[in-house]
Amino acid sequence: MGRYTGPSCRQCRRAGEKLFLKGDRCFTPRCAVERRHSPPGDPSARRRRATDYGLHLREKQKARQMFGVMEGQFRTYMDKAFDAPGMSGLNLLRILERRLDNVVYMLGFADSRKQARQFVNHGHFRINNVKTDIPSYLVRVGDVVSWKESDKQTDFYKERTDGIPKRPIPSWLSLNMDEMSGQVATLPADEDLRKTIDSRLIVEFYSR
Ligand code: SF4
Repeated sequence: MGRYTGPSCRQCRRAGEKLFLKGDRCFTPRCAVERRHSPPGDPSARRRRATDYGLHLREKQKARQMFGVMEGQFRTYMDKAFDAPGMSGLNLLRILERRLDNVVYMLGFADSRKQARQFVNHGHFRINNVKTDIPSYLVRVGDVVSWKESDKQTDFYKERTDGIPKRPIPSWLSLNMDEMSGQVATLPADEDLRKTIDSRLIVEFYSR
């Protein structure tokens, strides 16, 4: 199955909560979840109660959509999470947080993960001074994420870095304001992992 190209807000309305897929708009009253509380689609089908399977599926889809990961890759992440020591659900969330596109978003260099993925794809970022244009690259402790040097003369760069930090930066990342680079200080601790995703439901979904 290819990447979803429909309206992002529809995914939030389906999930019944904000997935923060559109940058600044998500924090304004123009957010579709705030304006319309009903799920998308045929109104006659809306009142059906979700089955147990449906609840598990919805949580998995929510995490996948929030991080912009396709089904196959998500399955691969889940397999890795099962193989790693510790709680599989937290392992999964830790892997998702470590994606380069997520790190670029978390550092405030992009307004959304979708935009961050595009910036990475277009070669704007370096990891330890090596060009890295793979959004799914998983950062490691000590990695430094920096802008391409030639970008620093452009209006695009000034626009992207003006007013940073725009959001609170998680404690496992540190932002160097002089260099406009970020470093991975530690791996995300359990308390840094997304509280809005019930990883237990996702583990159960893949354990069926
Ligand atoms: Fe989701 Fe953002 Fe659209 Fe609101 S504005 S529905 S949070 S993508």
